[in-house]
Amino acid sequence: MICYVPAESAPAEPRAALTPATAQALVKLGLTVQAAPGLGRASHYADEDYAKAGVSLVPDHAAALAAADIVLRVRKPPAADIARMKRGALHLSFLDPFNEKELLAAFAAAGVSAVSLEMIPRTTLAQKMDALSSQASLAGYAAVIEAAQRLRMALPMMMTPAGTIMAARVFVIGAGVAGLQAIATAKRLGARVEAFDTRPVVEEQVKSLGAKFVKIDLGETGQTAGGYAKALTPEQIAKQQAGMAKICAQSDIVITTAKVFGRPAPRLVTKAMLDGMKPGSVVVDIAVESGGNVESSRPGEDVVTPNGVTIIGHPCLEGTVAFHATQVLAANFAAWFTHFWDAQQKTLRLDPPDEILQGCLITRGGAVVHPQFAPKA
Ligand code: NAD
Repeated sequence: MICYVPAESAPAEPRAALTPATAQALVKLGLTVQAAPGLGRASHYADEDYAKAGVSLVPDHAAALAAADIVLRVRKPPAADIARMKRGALHLSFLDPFNEKELLAAFAAAGVSAVSLEMIPRTTLAQKMDALSSQASLAGYAAVIEAAQRLRMALPMMMTPAGTIMAARVFVIGAGVAGLQAIATAKRLGARVEAFDTRPVVEEQVKSLGAKFVKIDLGETGQTAGGYAKALTPEQIAKQQAGMAKICAQSDIVITTAKVFGRPAPRLVTKAMLDGMKPGSVVVDIAVESGGNVESSRPGEDVVTPNGVTIIGHPCLEGTVAFHATQVLAANFAAWFTHFWDAQQKTLRLDPPDEILQGCLITRGGAVVHPQFAPKA
């Protein structure tokens, strides 16, 4: 089977779907691995290392696509690439399936089986292939580093002969995978950290990292069977905003990571809350690409409010640490292949009863087969 890894088509995407080390693992399984020359340039993996790992570097993108049985990517493909693929071929990448109806239809029309990394179940069995977690964790880390670089303050408390510098205050809103890593990073840098999440189970996790859990009584909240937050009512959001306004005003850095799976991110930090913040403070909106938690944030831009608050709307913070983001994403792919690989037949065994496959396979045999995205009869 030929597995081809093209260059990413989004111009600002520095990550790649494969490292030399994972390429070697795929070759060992029995796959023929091909990649675009320069695949790892932006994430600092050299062509010669891919070649040493057994990867053929193929400059003719159209021919490689047409010959491939499997295509691996970080982000969704351009529509023209789907049309060039073989019927029955497999495509794995992030797909943003809740917002990409036409893309899913294009995969179905081309007879390509599309796997969406976002839909891999968040279970213990699938942990090694959980690309949402591997990337979110690095995004949480990078959010703190970006904020610390913009903040004209030191993060740790310092006792000096010239007086005491107080520890910076960091408020993390949403303490899932990204938020917990942001908390851990800010604590390591010596900041005083507070956090809030609507899922009550998170309180212990926040405390175990040495941060303070902010209590806001929102009534019934909870989580879905899959562990995701439930959407709040407008009244609950208003209560949450009121409860958070004072903490934002006292904070030097606010990092927002709140998401509700399959829906736009909740708008949690309003203009009024930003107006109440200190000049020079920094807000990082990790949810900026899925709608944004912060009223004034814009994807790909830094916005400075009239009172001097910088809002960072970096759409892919994990891309700032692309070497490691690529390393763990490629490891997620390798784990997926290892799970589905039939070593005797040297092929993928994609059996429908497999719970991981049922979760992440969106199209197959010319149709959208995933129940959440299949057209309703
Ligand atoms: P996510 O990216 O969907 O959301 C980020 C966080 O925002 C979540 O903690 C969520 O509760 C929170 N949030 C939503 N609305 C909010 C609001 N109004 N205010 C404050 N916070 C709000 O979540 P995630 O980080 O991808 O994690 C989702 C779940 O999956 C978690 O329960 C996590 O523990 C679980 N998980 C399980 C595994 C595993 O078992 N293998 C792996 C990874 C994650």
